Amino acid sequence: MATDFDVIVVGAGPGGTCCAALLAQKGLKVLLLDKNAGVGGKQMDLEFKGTHGERWASGGFAVQGGSFHDVYRALGIESQLKVSAKPIVAIYRRSGMTWKQARKPPQEVEIDMEHYKGMDPNLLFDQWGLKGQDRDVALQAMAEMASWTPEQLDQLDDITMTEWFARRPELPFPLKRYIFYVSQVMQECLPDITPMSMVSGIFHYGARPMGYPLGGYGRVTEIVAEKFEELGGKLVTRARAESIMVEKGRAVGVITRDAVYRAPVVVSNAGIQPTVLKLVGEDHFDKSYVAYIKGLIPSLGYNGVRYVLREKVLPGALYQIWSDDSWWDLKEYLRIRSGGAPRDVTIALIVPSNYDPDMAPPGKQVLVFGTNCSPDTRDDTMLKALNKRMEEQMAEVFPEVVPAIEHKTYAGPRDVAALSRDEALPGSGGEFNLAISIGQTGRYKPSARSPIPGLYYVGMDAGSTRRLLGSNGPVDSGINVSRMVYQYCLDRQFAGW
Ligand SMILES: Cc1cc2nc3c(=O)[nH]c(=O)nc-3n(C[C@H](O)[C@H](O)[C@H](O)COP(=O)(O)OP(=O)(O)OC[C@H]3O[C@@H](n4cnc5c(N)ncnc54)[C@H](O)[C@@H]3O)c2cc1C
Repeated sequence: MATDFDVIVVGAGPGGTCCAALLAQKGLKVLLLDKNAGVGGKQMDLEFKGTHGERWASGGFAVQGGSFHDVYRALGIESQLKVSAKPIVAIYRRSGMTWKQARKPPQEVEIDMEHYKGMDPNLLFDQWGLKGQDRDVALQAMAEMASWTPEQLDQLDDITMTEWFARRPELPFPLKRYIFYVSQVMQECLPDITPMSMVSGIFHYGARPMGYPLGGYGRVTEIVAEKFEELGGKLVTRARAESIMVEKGRAVGVITRDAVYRAPVVVSNAGIQPTVLKLVGEDHFDKSYVAYIKGLIPSLGYNGVRYVLREKVLPGALYQIWSDDSWWDLKEYLRIRSGGAPRDVTIALIVPSNYDPDMAPPGKQVLVFGTNCSPDTRDDTMLKALNKRMEEQMAEVFPEVVPAIEHKTYAGPRDVAALSRDEALPGSGGEFNLAISIGQTGRYKPSARSPIPGLYYVGMDAGSTRRLLGSNGPVDSGINVSRMVYQYCLDRQFAGW
């Protein structure tokens, strides 16, 4: 079967779906393919024993000003994006001490959006035991990080977090430890290999209220996909792209098991490494480009658990749990990867049903929490050790949860790969992001234009240089790539290719 489109988008993750919808809105005939049964990629909405939602802890949706807001506005559907914001509950312990909450989690309290002035650093300073002049120094440093100019950020693309802190010995140690911890949890990176510029994403969003979209993260992409179809786009799920066709040096279409689709532009949301190495094939690229693509470094991966509780137990909606002994630098990561026992672990815990009661059956509660791990889809030893410590630690912090557990579902790097990219190189597949290391991110992020005319990448790997957090980056890429592709289509018409 041969079918003709102006553009084929392979992958209906947040980036691919937003790109496809924006192109359909410009009047192009767009086909959106996904290997899975639904859209949303890593954030796809799934069913679990009578509950639904994302497979892993997903908090931190921008209440205002995020990339999804930009896309919804562009598509004229902004009234459909509703986000509930609640205070983050930070739980921390100093080495050898007991776990301590920075504030009581007020279940019913929504953040007062009009008067929100960002996170209160004093709560953190109290929790860290920071005193006197150290508090002023830490506050000044946080203000500095929150207000770096684009030029300063470009320079900070070349300095690792570890190097930056080594140059600032006057900064109190707990601040460094906190920045390393937050980067690990929010950017899935290690301070020795990731540039200091990535910290700006944390402060950019930390200064704004963050929350959870009503209906769940997956629903946010589903609404965009519905608009895409309303605009005339064609969505085909359970349609894995097996190869991207290249003829006379140009992208010309996609082959799935059941069909051959032809189009002069192919946009791949399937990951830059699987696209180059598997879907197109190394032979179509210059050797140095293939070496560059193979050299892109994956971020940390994720392993976690979803508990369904038979009753409502926890009052808060988003918890960050960490200790002096939980964050990793490269040495600590390698120690655990090679079989060393984790001391404490960093945990991000979300209670989606405390944001949106419809996320759990009446009377029950859903807890989704997890920690970082290697992105390697085959590394079961590290997963087992981390899961064991994570569940022990949850029981230390919230003993009241244990007797209420009705059902557990585990998720790790293999589940991430199943909802996202196919593993293309050993040691990868379960990453949150690709290219977050020095020389690969920020202004060095891979170009969304491949060397093959008509072939583009969209999503977390390429197309956004703004150092944004979470799905904001891939969605920003969707916006940028839709512009590039539209321009390419106009150029094609003009030049008569
Ligand atoms: C554990 C975890 C927690 C996260 N928490 C948050 C959070 O709290 N907040 C936040 O904003 N972000 C969070 N993220 C990040 C967010 O999920 C990603 O940034 C986002 O999903 C990446 O979008 P993407 O467009 O790059 O594509 P992906 O989500 O990676 O989707 C790629 C799509 O391509 C499809 N595909 C792949 N290969 C093929 C093929 N050959 N043929 C057809 N289809 C194919 C896949 O099925 C998938 O639908 C989290 C991610 C993880 C893993």
